[in-house]
Amino acid sequence: MTLRSFLTKIYLEENNYQKFKRMVKMQKFDVIIVGGGASGVMTALTCSKRIKNVAIIDSGSYVGKKLLSTGNGRCNLTNLNMNSSFYNQNIDLFLKKFDEKSSIKFFNSLGLVIKADDCGRVYPFSNVARSVVDVFENKINEQNIAKLTGKKVINIEKIFEGFVVTTEQDKRVEKFFAKKIVLATGGNSIVEILKNLGIKFSPFFPSLVALKTKESTKQLSGVRVSDVRIFATSDIAPFDPKKEEFGEILFKDKGLSGIAVLNLSTYFARNKNFFGKVFIDFVPKIEEKELIKLLNSRKMLSGNILIGFLNEAVAREIFDRLKLNFKMQNSFLTDNNILEIARLIKHFEFTVCEPYDNNQVFCGGVPLLELSENLESKFVPNLFVCGELCDVDGETGGYNLQWAWTSGNIVGENL
Ligand SMILES: Cc1cc2nc3c(=O)[nH]c(=O)nc-3n(C[C@H](O)[C@H](O)[C@H](O)COP(=O)(O)OP(=O)(O)OC[C@H]3O[C@@H](n4cnc5c(N)ncnc54)[C@H](O)[C@@H]3O)c2cc1C
Repeated sequence: MTLRSFLTKIYLEENNYQKFKRMVKMQKFDVIIVGGGASGVMTALTCSKRIKNVAIIDSGSYVGKKLLSTGNGRCNLTNLNMNSSFYNQNIDLFLKKFDEKSSIKFFNSLGLVIKADDCGRVYPFSNVARSVVDVFENKINEQNIAKLTGKKVINIEKIFEGFVVTTEQDKRVEKFFAKKIVLATGGNSIVEILKNLGIKFSPFFPSLVALKTKESTKQLSGVRVSDVRIFATSDIAPFDPKKEEFGEILFKDKGLSGIAVLNLSTYFARNKNFFGKVFIDFVPKIEEKELIKLLNSRKMLSGNILIGFLNEAVAREIFDRLKLNFKMQNSFLTDNNILEIARLIKHFEFTVCEPYDNNQVFCGGVPLLELSENLESKFVPNLFVCGELCDVDGETGGYNLQWAWTSGNIVGENL
């Protein structure tokens, strides 16, 4: 249907001259993508090969800005080890359509040279996220996609056979019309709009986030330990790990951070409850019995038994927790002391009480059950959802951006 016949239809059907006049004044697009982050840009670049009149609306000063802060400024684009186990649910159906290999091919086609590290994490060869934003910008301009930046979307209304999008910029309100709309706003920023549109969503919880602990971590603040195991347990079965992670932990002023902790935080986020116990095993490759033997063999050392074995700050914290004098002679350590030290090295307990610092993603969002295989709402036709706004969240390592590329591409192909 041409735009003219479409507007005439509205006029005839509604016989509402005022509405018709307002509509005529509005800038009109075939597709409006709300949110110019990772998934929004992917949608725009994919659909604009077929659809000519596409706009991205973003509240930021330029499209793709958020990508600059990803991967510590390096943008971890995806991961060569890709499957649903890295996500909160099975997304095989979607990865079959567009997986990590498709992402790499896509970025190569934009002229972005990429590389992977030993863990399979994929980055721009330049090691700077700016390169990703630059190739996006070139392609957006080449494909004549309208960029309406600095405009915050404050309302979306379903009317006739389309949507009216209301934006605000420096208190100036504007309205745009689109036949189809894509919601690609990331985390929890358009909760009211979702409610108004009648789109169901599960509550948003911060994920990939540091964990605040009840116990003080001041003495350990700034200490980084690697190759450790950290596991979360439920209150009912405190020694039964519900989720475990191996890798690096960074102690902060008020809690725990580092990649292993961020990944562990998904356990709390997905349970929608940030209260529970976590245990650190500083020596996961050494069994407790073997550790006791090792500690006993160190009793002849003149300095503290743990110095030269564990990080000094950790060693001090272990002695503090056991109320043992750090400077006591090793020969005074009883068998029970050695057992307690070994137990603490393998079960260093913290009580998590809340998320801490900035989260990388939100868990929660529009459930995939509310959407078709093409990520179109089953209840609001011509409305599509992609990226973090869907109830899909992954671990660190490029998995969240991969979902943004996957979902953005699927929406772009099906608009
Ligand atoms: C610090 C940090 C580092 C990260 N590093 C990585 C990484 O290296 N690898 C990885 O896989 N994942 C990483 N993530 C997660 C990843 O960035 C997100 O999963 C991904 O960006 C989600 O894409 P999206 O398109 O859904 O949303 P976003 O990229 O968040 O984009 C949403 C866009 O919508 C716009 N917007 C929101 N509300 C409105 C509104 N009302 N009106 C207009 N515009 C609006 C925003 O301005 C934004 O540009 C990181 C996240 C953070 C915070």
